[in-house]
Amino acid sequence: MVSAEAGIERVLWTEAEVAARVGEVATELAADLRALPEPAVVVGVATGAFLFLADLVRRVDAPLAVDFVRVESYGGGTESSGKPRITADLKVDVAGKHVVVVEDIVDTGNTLSCLIAHLEKKGASSISVCTFLDKPARRKVNIQLVGDGKFYSGFECPDCFVVGYGLDYAELYRNLPYVGVLKPEMYKKDSSN
Ligand code: 5GP
Ligand code: MG
Ligand code: MG
Repeated sequence: MVSAEAGIERVLWTEAEVAARVGEVATELAADLRALPEPAVVVGVATGAFLFLADLVRRVDAPLAVDFVRVESYGGGTESSGKPRITADLKVDVAGKHVVVVEDIVDTGNTLSCLIAHLEKKGASSISVCTFLDKPARRKVNIQLVGDGKFYSGFECPDCFVVGYGLDYAELYRNLPYVGVLKPEMYKKDSSN
């Protein structure tokens, strides 16, 4: 077998750059969460947000609960189906709570819009979004935050398919400690996905 790195064309953000930026986002988020009257609920979107969430919350010195949801819209390919479904729901009750959705990347915005509507229906009093990457060039729907919710973002991502630091292609590459662009030949050979 070859290393995971063999599929990478170029690195966009190194491990050190990721760590530094996650620290900055955590500082900003911590200040806001400490100002709340009660603990927030941090909701990670599995699987992509697992590393970002883990690195983020251990740097946030504020009381908070952590839970996960699973929202799926991609098959095995690099294009969203555009119809996200919640395939695993929360355990924590978010009614009347301040929720911070932690995402790996916001692309078209479909996944996040579906999740925000779902959390709003459950009675969250405010909904913020903290995404590791933001790809505004491909946005199709505006992200409507709820209540005093804020939008936090790690890096603005160019319009290309990236992997690493939680982000996958066909469930692979999530374990890379940096973010890179996948070699086109890694996915073009099975573009039927
Ligand atoms: P959206 O619903 O905003 O179009 O897509 C959100 C989801 O699509 C992300 O949570 C992520 O799982 C996936 N996605 C979008 N762009 C990329 C990308 O460049 N790389 C990877 N690995 N996943 C992406
Ligand atoms: Mg995601
Ligand atoms: Mg994926």
